[in-house]
Amino acid sequence: MNFSSSNQDHDPPLAPGLYLVATPIGNLEDITLRALRVLRSVDRIACEDTRQTQKLLNHFAISTSTVSYHLHNEGSRAEELVEQLRQGARIAIVSDAGTPGISDPGHELVTAAIAAGVAIYPIPGANAATSALIASGLSTEQFLFHGFLPSKEGQRRTALEQLTRDEVTHIFYEAPHRIVATLADLETVFGASQPVVIARELTKLHEEFLRGSVGEIRTQLAARASVRGEIVLLFSPVRQTSAPSARSIASEVAALMQSESLSEKDALKRIARERGIGKSEAYRELQREQNRLR
Ligand code: SAM
Repeated sequence: MNFSSSNQDHDPPLAPGLYLVATPIGNLEDITLRALRVLRSVDRIACEDTRQTQKLLNHFAISTSTVSYHLHNEGSRAEELVEQLRQGARIAIVSDAGTPGISDPGHELVTAAIAAGVAIYPIPGANAATSALIASGLSTEQFLFHGFLPSKEGQRRTALEQLTRDEVTHIFYEAPHRIVATLADLETVFGASQPVVIARELTKLHEEFLRGSVGEIRTQLAARASVRGEIVLLFSPVRQTSAPSARSIASEVAALMQSESLSEKDALKRIARERGIGKSEAYRELQREQNRLR
């Protein structure tokens, strides 16, 4: 294969290498001029779904050839593409929407290309997580992006329980048919008053932000006939601070030991989690209560 010439005479030739090109997450105006030039000029475009990308290419009258590169052929296709890159090809990788490699294929090809000594060029652009974050109103100082939560309820709850309660904004992608169940889990783990933000259909006609307590937002979404569209869920854990709990820790421990046959240790662990305090803090509070009763 000859990889020496650019696809379009008027564009300056691109250096050989792998180009990670972000594409719009809805609004087609969110593609950069550089992304268009790169897509026009590369030898081929590796796409998560060639039909999906073809629509974008047709819209911008780009005739570069495409090849599929998705979850199921990532390994074998990466080998083939790296071989072409070694020979001096310019290859772009795009996902169906947004930034490749972010909850989308791309990472495997990047690591294989780096190992082969190939140059990698990020072509930045749309991304649902950061778009949701900057408009959420939550702190942008420190944030953690987790991608998708597990789809099974037990695993999802465990994942939520393991999140840090430090002052960070947690960001998740979530499917519309699971969002109400996920909010219910969030409510169980962090309490009904935990503030959350839902960013739905970003950059599209029906873009929507819902901000409120997890209890309110869950009720609001559950009341809809169906929840559609693409969703980013964000929240920053709120510490349950000075206001003392109506119930003593000792009585909660006793209740959990009786109703759920938990050991004292497990009951304390659960209470600590629900109150947003450390296990040792919960234990010390239990001891203080017990000392007061003596
Ligand atoms: N690589 C993409 C990016 O850079 O954002 C993410 C791809 S991931 C497979 C798809 C998920 O991203 C969706 O299920 C949804 O959670 C989120 N997402 C993508 N587009 C979105 C949009 N327009 N509005 C809200 N969330 C979106």
